Amino acid sequence: MKNSTQKVLLSEAQIDRRVEELAGEISAEYRGKKVLLVCVLKGAVVFASDLMRRLKVAVEIDFMAVSSYGSETASSGAVRILKDLDSSIRGKDLLIVEDIVDTGLTLDYICKNLLSRKPSSLKVVTLLDKPARRKVEFTPDFCGFEIPDYFVVGYGLDFDENYRQLPGIHILQPGNKG
Ligand code: 5GP
Repeated sequence: MKNSTQKVLLSEAQIDRRVEELAGEISAEYRGKKVLLVCVLKGAVVFASDLMRRLKVAVEIDFMAVSSYGSETASSGAVRILKDLDSSIRGKDLLIVEDIVDTGLTLDYICKNLLSRKPSSLKVVTLLDKPARRKVEFTPDFCGFEIPDYFVVGYGLDFDENYRQLPGIHILQPGNKG
């Protein structure tokens, strides 16, 4: 299937402004503390790098990669860890940095898994949220934008490993431009 991404849902400037605001909220939340950002690979990597440079508190970063079984666009629900964190999180203030919450199954799994390792606190920031698609109850602590039920790419998000480098968020539309 070939696809084109004609429609911009969120421009680079809109994202930039919102990331700045989120960084302010998060810096206020963690004032006087050090926060460990847990960046969920690969989609959140652009968001995490923009966000961390704007935080006004001490920051560490670690990476985790998870995968739903199957390669369908829709999440299947089963989650497995492809890359785990490098270090212990016991007693640390964790902020999971995610690109998008869809059914909520991925973050539900990640949060339960990380909470069992006894961090001091655990919160979630997501750039995008599609609340209409939820299969499990999940509310991110910080959210950039709530969006309708579109499949989106760009700013780190992919379709079949393509489009991650687009500076804005685009709606993926069927087309013939490749
Ligand atoms: P959930 O477990 O919440 O259904 O899915 C979360 C994961 O599904 C995201 O981290 C992302 O990898 C993928 N995903 C969900 N919706 C979209 C979308 O609109 N675009 C892209 N590129 N990935 C999505």
